[in-house]
Amino acid sequence: MSSLKNNLTKYRILTLVFALAISSLMMGCNKATGTASAPTTDNKTATNTSPTSTASSHSEAIPGDPKSSLDTLLQGNDRYVNGSLQARDLSKTKLEELAKGQHPHTIIVTCSDSRVSPELLFDQSQGDIFVIRTAGNVLDKAAMGSIEYAAEHLHSPLIMVVGHEKCGAVTAATKDDPVGGSIQYVVNEIKPAVTRAKGLGGDLVAKSVDENVKLVVETLPGRSQIVSHLIKENKLKIVGGTYSLSSGKVNVVSNLEQSPSAVETKTESKTEKKG
Ligand SMILES: [Zn+2]
Repeated sequence: MSSLKNNLTKYRILTLVFALAISSLMMGCNKATGTASAPTTDNKTATNTSPTSTASSHSEAIPGDPKSSLDTLLQGNDRYVNGSLQARDLSKTKLEELAKGQHPHTIIVTCSDSRVSPELLFDQSQGDIFVIRTAGNVLDKAAMGSIEYAAEHLHSPLIMVVGHEKCGAVTAATKDDPVGGSIQYVVNEIKPAVTRAKGLGGDLVAKSVDENVKLVVETLPGRSQIVSHLIKENKLKIVGGTYSLSSGKVNVVSNLEQSPSAVETKTESKTEKKG
C-alpha cells in the first residue's frame, strides 16, 4: 500500500512538473496557445515541442510518429499482462486540460466484444486513443468517417486494427447459416477473410481472426481518399494485432513494415460500393 502511495505521489509530482513546463512553453509561444484551445487545428506544433514520450507518463505523452504510438500501445499491453497497470490521472485539472482538446496518439479499430476494451488492454487513459468498435472490427461508412476525422483533424499517426480470440462475428462468418438483419452485413464483410484462412489450414476461426485483421488493414486505404492521401504524405501508418482473451496479450500480425501503400482513387470507387 505504501509503495502504491509513493508511486501516486511521484506521479502527481511528475504531472505538476510537466504542467509547469507546458504552461511556460505556452506563455512563450502564442501559436502553441492557439493550438491548445482549438482541437481541430494542427497539433504538430504541440507534438514537436512536447517532451519525448516515455512508457511511464502515458497520459501526458503525445507520440508524434507511428512507431512511438505502437511502442506506447505494446508497452501498455505488457503492463496489462503483468498486472502492473499505471495509476490514471483523472483529476479535475486533467479533465479541464482534456476539455481544451484531444490529441489521441492512435486510432484503434476493434471488436465490440465486452471482453476487448482497448483502454484497459493497452493501459491507456482518457484522451490517449480514438476508438472505433464494431462486431468483428469490420468497417462501414460511419467507421470510415470516424477514422478519417481522427486521422485528418486530430493528426493521429497510427491506425491499429485489433481482432481477438474466439470472436463471435468471425465464428459466424465461418459457417453457412443465414444470420439475418444487419448482422448479415458484418458476416459478409468477414467472409473474404474466411476464404483466405481456409487455404492456410489449422484452426479455421483463429486463422480467420488473423486474416480478418490483415484484410481490414490492407483494404483500408482503398476505402478512403483521405487515408490514402495521408499515407502517401507519410503521416499515417496502419498495423494489426490480435488479442488473446486468455492471456491478455496482443500479438502484432501486421507490423509497421507491412503498412499498406496509398491507393489510387479508381480502387476507392470500386470498394466504395461495399459501404
Ligand atoms: Zn469479436
